[in-house]
Amino acid sequence: MTNMDWSLSLKDVSDKQLRIALSQTNVPALLASLSHLDGSSRQFRAGITPRVVQLAEEEDGLSEEERVTARALAFDRLQAYRNASCPDPEKLSDASVEEAMHFITGEKIPAEQMAMMSEELNLYGEDRRRLNIEAGSVPQEYRVLVIGSGMSGILAAVRLKEAGIPFDVVDKNPEIGGTWFLNTYPGCQVDSANHLYNYIFAPESQWPGHFSGQPELLDYFLRVVEEFGLRDDIQLETEVLSALWHEKTAEWEVCSRNSEGKKSTSRYDSIVSACGQLNLPAFPDIPGRDSFAGIAFHSARWNHGSDLSGKRVAVIGTGCSAVQFVPEIADKTAKLQVFQRSAPWLLPAEEYHLTMTEAELWCFRNIPFYARWYRFYLFRSRGVDGLLPFFFTQKNWNGHSHSVSADNAALRDALVESIREQAGGDEALAAALIPDYPPGGKRPVLDDGQWIDTLKKPHVTLQSQPILAIEAEGIRTEDGALHNFDVVIYATGFKADHFLQPIKMTGRDGRELHDTWKGNPQAYLGITVPGFPNFYCLYGPNTNIVTGSSIIFGSECEMRYIMGCLKFQFENGVKALEVREDRCRDYNVLIDTRSRECAWGSEHVDSWYKNAEGRVSQNWPGTHWEWWQQTRTPDPGDFHIV
Ligand code: NAP
Repeated sequence: MTNMDWSLSLKDVSDKQLRIALSQTNVPALLASLSHLDGSSRQFRAGITPRVVQLAEEEDGLSEEERVTARALAFDRLQAYRNASCPDPEKLSDASVEEAMHFITGEKIPAEQMAMMSEELNLYGEDRRRLNIEAGSVPQEYRVLVIGSGMSGILAAVRLKEAGIPFDVVDKNPEIGGTWFLNTYPGCQVDSANHLYNYIFAPESQWPGHFSGQPELLDYFLRVVEEFGLRDDIQLETEVLSALWHEKTAEWEVCSRNSEGKKSTSRYDSIVSACGQLNLPAFPDIPGRDSFAGIAFHSARWNHGSDLSGKRVAVIGTGCSAVQFVPEIADKTAKLQVFQRSAPWLLPAEEYHLTMTEAELWCFRNIPFYARWYRFYLFRSRGVDGLLPFFFTQKNWNGHSHSVSADNAALRDALVESIREQAGGDEALAAALIPDYPPGGKRPVLDDGQWIDTLKKPHVTLQSQPILAIEAEGIRTEDGALHNFDVVIYATGFKADHFLQPIKMTGRDGRELHDTWKGNPQAYLGITVPGFPNFYCLYGPNTNIVTGSSIIFGSECEMRYIMGCLKFQFENGVKALEVREDRCRDYNVLIDTRSRECAWGSEHVDSWYKNAEGRVSQNWPGTHWEWWQQTRTPDPGDFHIV
């Protein structure tokens, strides 16, 4: 197989090579893609019915025998297609597309969700999340400011450019990419399925992994910037300091500072914040933190100048970041101690570190529409809504105290079993690794065994003793022991609820955004804030989708909503749109009620999902469908219109 030439096209591959390629396909997506060869979805069902089985080794619910039969059938059909010199595939009728969509996960998709599903499938590259704005309707000299050039900022720039709306993007960093530029710790990788984690308008199937690394992710976003000609629209090393709303002229006066410290002021009609939720590293409030005599840094600002070889290293924190980099650095260190305050739930994901084979990548390039159907398969199985139903609380539930429903308890049992199995009879380790809160209470961590394997190494310790203080030589734990270290790495997460800080935003009647929020950020649909006209957030309060899907889906929906607001303004000669206070309040009452019905809203759990008041200010407590629906088109009735 290693000698095979995977640069060949389908027309030129041998039978043997085709068989090998097909042996590595996702069967439901493969069968759906075969529909295009005959213009019908029926022939290629191979008598099977896939169904999504969460957390199973093979999530398609098929037996190995069924897969073999399906692939043999696919081989015959693709062989004939190849022998006929690969004519252009048929365009499927809407009915056939729908049928294939139902087939792929073995569930009847509710009729009302079909529009969202076919938008996501994006079979012929229609990009239905794009909102067209009539050329000529944009007022002269209208200008939008986008703050941040990460995933959301690039998305905003693409949409504004497509619509012909003048804009600037500013970013305080020296390079584009946001989180994918800043987080460079060893082992940093995406933990959403990568074939879902890309823009609908820039689909990418040639990812090197199922969950690729930070360099590949950054490279993707930079390629999108080049492809859409955005580089010149982005001012780097420019930090927005303040924005002041002028009621009379309906404009924002924005003050920013460049890398040389020079301040400048510009005027914009609208502002889109694309600052993200996870950009300000959080250091723990541990006594003596500054007294440590060795090297100390935060995982999100990795110190690549410090060589960990032969060093005694402490890692504080056991969230997604630590679980990604600890296995990468362990073998270099002389001693590695991981300080765990609470254990994360580990969600089995076998393919977490698996690279794509050349044959798999070949299939995405060469089997007509296979890549599209594979993305759709992931959306159905991991996205809509994946594990979400397992995280909803059940009324009067009186099962295990670290569970919130029967489903949640069943999930807990499965995860506990997986931990015990991996701990391999080390009861103390297993006990330390089993979280004391329900699954979904905090952000779970994907796991393919590397984490526990690393913790079992002789020079690695999982330290569950609470930290008392940090001293010059190391870390003192509550039992009085002093643990000596050369390096302390803080994997202690982000100030997630500090949306837009430290920017001073002054809206209508002189109200300041952070004073208004008082540490409790709230927005209508996570996008607009009363008192702050023509101001929009991407990935704002309560927009975090938590179920293993792609946050890009959420941001794309939000950006369509924002474009809808701009379109409404332009078409109706509206100078300013400001969301009504009552709509925002009612919406957030609903959010809070629903958050309390989720595992992460439980009063016994604390995490970055909650703000200092204990209110869940980060997560969206509903389904993808609800999110899609509520952000599809703005309702003018929600706004004060100037
Ligand atoms: P995190 O999930 O907030 O984890 C922070 C860790 O530090 C927790 O284990 C926390 O313990 C611990 N901690 C905080 N203060 C402490 C203290 N004073 N003493 C001891 N321990 C303390 O941070 P993260 O791992 O950086 O991840 C944050 C989020 O970023 C993730 O949930 C995810 O959404 C995102 N992320 C994504 C990826 C990706 O794959 N794409 C990778 C990394 C991060 P407690 O749990 O007890 O508070």
